[in-house]
Amino acid sequence: MTGSTRRRTLSAKAGALSVCAALLASCASDERPFLLPPDAVRTTTTLATPTTLETTTTTEDPGTPLALISPTGVIVPILNIGEGGYLVQTPCQAEATLVFGTPIYQTTVVLDPGHGGAIETGAVGPNGLAEKDLNLTLAKATARRLLDVGISTVLTRTSDYRIPLATRAQIADTLDASALISIHHNAPILSDSEIPGTEVFYQTNRPESGRLGGLIQQEVVDALAQFSDVDWVSARDAGVVGVLKPDGTPSYGMIRRPQTTAVLAEFGYLANPSEAELFATDEYIEVASEALATAIERFLESDQSGVEVNAQNRTFTPSGGTGGVIGCIDPPLE
Ligand SMILES: [Zn+2]
Repeated sequence: MTGSTRRRTLSAKAGALSVCAALLASCASDERPFLLPPDAVRTTTTLATPTTLETTTTTEDPGTPLALISPTGVIVPILNIGEGGYLVQTPCQAEATLVFGTPIYQTTVVLDPGHGGAIETGAVGPNGLAEKDLNLTLAKATARRLLDVGISTVLTRTSDYRIPLATRAQIADTLDASALISIHHNAPILSDSEIPGTEVFYQTNRPESGRLGGLIQQEVVDALAQFSDVDWVSARDAGVVGVLKPDGTPSYGMIRRPQTTAVLAEFGYLANPSEAELFATDEYIEVASEALATAIERFLESDQSGVEVNAQNRTFTPSGGTGGVIGCIDPPLE
């Protein structure tokens, strides 16, 4: 790094820190953006005298920002920091320069609410509930729970816009996250089942992905089973499943693309009227988000495994889809 580059980087960093400091007040509210860097400010509590409790706040240099929350709330990886501002990768894989934004220096967890935007709705329930909205609601509720227990969490998508699979994976990889969880609700309807048809797809070449999937499968199925009035449906091989094309490569982009340890969780079947009714309730969001957050905490803080991965992989050839950049229209970034 040359002297002038270093100066530019440092001055941009100082600007970024002041933006962060200006927004810290909102950090404590429920509507905090995803995510303010938790390491930017550390609060330490010390006993000054045996009877006086004193709280001090110290600001530390958190390092180089890796991604940015744009003023409109869109998460974008930072490609470079210059005098003109932050050069960022837009959701549609273009480049843009942003002067303002909230920097993200690190994250432990990335939650990926599947689908988004006018065209890519995902499944739609018979009650009109769109998968893209359900996935986002569940992701936000889970993020709040993780933040509340001190686990830094970033969402790949923060409102209703299109974001190709490449960008979703890039956000997790840029931030060097420990876990990426893509959140989905399934279609079409399969066979009737006594238990929820939850399934988690994992990276078959990564034992840690199987372990993460096993914990999510265990926590979510256990938690959803309490809704005993629901007429569940399921695939015969539901569980923690490797899904591969006939050539042996992973079928799903959100499993194949990330360097990060990743899983894709299908919580249930939105196409099934009985499940769609449940998924539209606040109670479902509360129960499902608690189960997912608990599984992620167990993954990060223990070496427990949950349920075992299926012995047999599933073979599936995807028929394309709308996860690419063609036809992608970026949301406003500022
Ligand atoms: Zn989906």
